[in-house]
Amino acid sequence: MDTLPVPRMRVITVANQKGGVGKTTTAINLATALAAIGKRTLVIDLDPQGNASTGLGINREDRETSSYDVLVENASITESAMASAVPNLSVIPSTLDLLGVEMEISGAAGRAYRLRDALHQHMEESALFDFVLVDCPPSLNLLTINAMAAADAILVPLQCEFFALEGLSQLLETVEQVRDTLNPALSLHGIVLTMYDGRNNLASQVVRDVRSYMGDHVYDTIIPRNVRVSEAPSFGKPAILYDMKCPGSQAYIKLASEVIQRERQLAAA
Ligand code: ADP
Ligand code: MG
Repeated sequence: MDTLPVPRMRVITVANQKGGVGKTTTAINLATALAAIGKRTLVIDLDPQGNASTGLGINREDRETSSYDVLVENASITESAMASAVPNLSVIPSTLDLLGVEMEISGAAGRAYRLRDALHQHMEESALFDFVLVDCPPSLNLLTINAMAAADAILVPLQCEFFALEGLSQLLETVEQVRDTLNPALSLHGIVLTMYDGRNNLASQVVRDVRSYMGDHVYDTIIPRNVRVSEAPSFGKPAILYDMKCPGSQAYIKLASEVIQRERQLAAA
């Protein structure tokens, strides 16, 4: 019946301008865990490298409509979303065309709102998804700005290494600027520590430092360094599908329940 309330779609952008910190791994495994508990989930791959698309089993030759088409050609979210190997999980893949987006839309009015506008249109027309996770490139470029302008909240993976905090203040400043100019409702969903190696004293020092600097923003769940997690993408599968029992997969399942818990708190606030 059309009197039923339209379910609210939540958009979470996974961002950090550093490469190799676990953005893509977090986006696809968190998405898989959300899909597994029945949340209709969409991953939008905004990195020209396309690792999220590959990691979800979408081969390059099968990427008919991509995030480039959404940003530049006004393709709709509904028609661009492809089914993945995971039930309840769809993907809008990326192609190398994304490398040209900056040049192609930099002069266009509303260039920072291309993704937001497409998602708004989707929400009005079909609202197929409960969660949208946007995987960003390792840079604070127009693609990442589009992802931040479209988001309800940002989720930041931080690798447990010496320079973890370096770059975080620049990222948080950018979030602040986006909030001031493009998207006042943007919040920081949380910071997730990734690739933790308990045998390494430095890693536990980094965890303490990040917690003392960022307090409650840091999720309780820490993602361990786990070879099964790094093997999974070469099989075109998220780790949770490749080996659900491995410690990395278990940590991502725990992270998903924390994310849902924070969603409830945010909704109640
Ligand atoms: P980003 O998207 O930030 O560049 P990725 O998610 O692609 O980072 O991760 C970088 C590399 O580290 C990839 O090869 C990935 O498989 C590996 N990796 C990510 N998380 C883990 C983990 N918890 N344990 C082991 N390897 C990991
Ligand atoms: Mg990536």
